[in-house]
Amino acid sequence: MVNKSCIIKLLIILFLCSGICTGVEEKSSIDKEKLKKRVELFLKENNVTLRRNVEDVFLLAEIYEKEGKDKDAMFLYQEGLKVNSWRLDYQSKLAQLMYKYGDKKQAVEKVKIVSQYAEDEELLIKAEEFLFNLGMNPVKSINKTERKLIKDQEIVLVPIGKVNKYLLSEVKHKLQEKMGISYSVMEEEIDPGKFDRSYLDKYTIDTKRKLLVSFLRLIPEQNKRFEELENQGQFNASRLILELKDNYIIEKVSKVKGYLGITRKDIFNGNSNFLFGWAGKDYGVMSYHRFLATFNQEPPNRSRLCDRIVKQGVSSSFFILGIPRCTNPTCIRSYPHNLTEHDHKGMELCPWCREQLKLILDRKR
Ligand SMILES: [Zn+2]
Repeated sequence: MVNKSCIIKLLIILFLCSGICTGVEEKSSIDKEKLKKRVELFLKENNVTLRRNVEDVFLLAEIYEKEGKDKDAMFLYQEGLKVNSWRLDYQSKLAQLMYKYGDKKQAVEKVKIVSQYAEDEELLIKAEEFLFNLGMNPVKSINKTERKLIKDQEIVLVPIGKVNKYLLSEVKHKLQEKMGISYSVMEEEIDPGKFDRSYLDKYTIDTKRKLLVSFLRLIPEQNKRFEELENQGQFNASRLILELKDNYIIEKVSKVKGYLGITRKDIFNGNSNFLFGWAGKDYGVMSYHRFLATFNQEPPNRSRLCDRIVKQGVSSSFFILGIPRCTNPTCIRSYPHNLTEHDHKGMELCPWCREQLKLILDRKR
């Protein structure tokens, strides 16, 4: 017999799951004629309705493009972008078509926006190649007024799993600017292996819930959602730090003062829900999963993403160098409880942190 509390829990799980994996119609099972009719209707409606259903507009545009109906595709990309101009993937597609049909000026304008704001590596590479082929310098947000660096002290950034290399290069330059020491990026990435905790684990923390999930798995649609949750998850930050320690030993005479792992995936430690970073003496790890526009449902902005990572990077670097946290709320190193607090922090070190950094760097020379 299923009692009342079980039913409530079941409803909660169903609610949570539906919130996390909003069912998107499978591309393979799309009825093009139905989609066409829907899009025609949306285009006649107001902007609010169009924006709400803009994915359908883009989807049909993609279908037209695949069928070689370029003009129809361009029209729909344009209509969609009028109400959701931050979809840089579609800006990029429209730019390619515009260029193909001779509108070079508008195409370049669009690609420059993609190059400046995209957080996605694939989009960035495409945009930069496009500009490079036209003999134009890609737009990069690397700070050109780099101050003099202490070159015999270095922290190595280690990609853990697939990490956006463009982004990493920007982060490296900004970290050097903030810390005044060298940063290098490890060519090879560390394979983090399987997730230590899947998002499904959150819903199966006790036997009752486990039973409930196995019961719900009998429903194919629910089972599919559970599988998605099972395939997404978090790495244990402590385990990643052990991996770094196993792979990279710090020699006393070396200029390398520490290793900072960076991953695109979510991390946790112990009972925590998630972490932005986790670091101790010599080794640290940070995640930019929760800094991404896609995670926060924000418009993409690589400069903002870069600043968020740099704030975390500076905090982690200080722990790697053995400097404890300060108590200044405006310092770039102050502890953020969430992303709002993280964004609210300044980009500068407080006087105490600057002083401690100078002392440590002088001592290490
Ligand atoms: Zn401080």
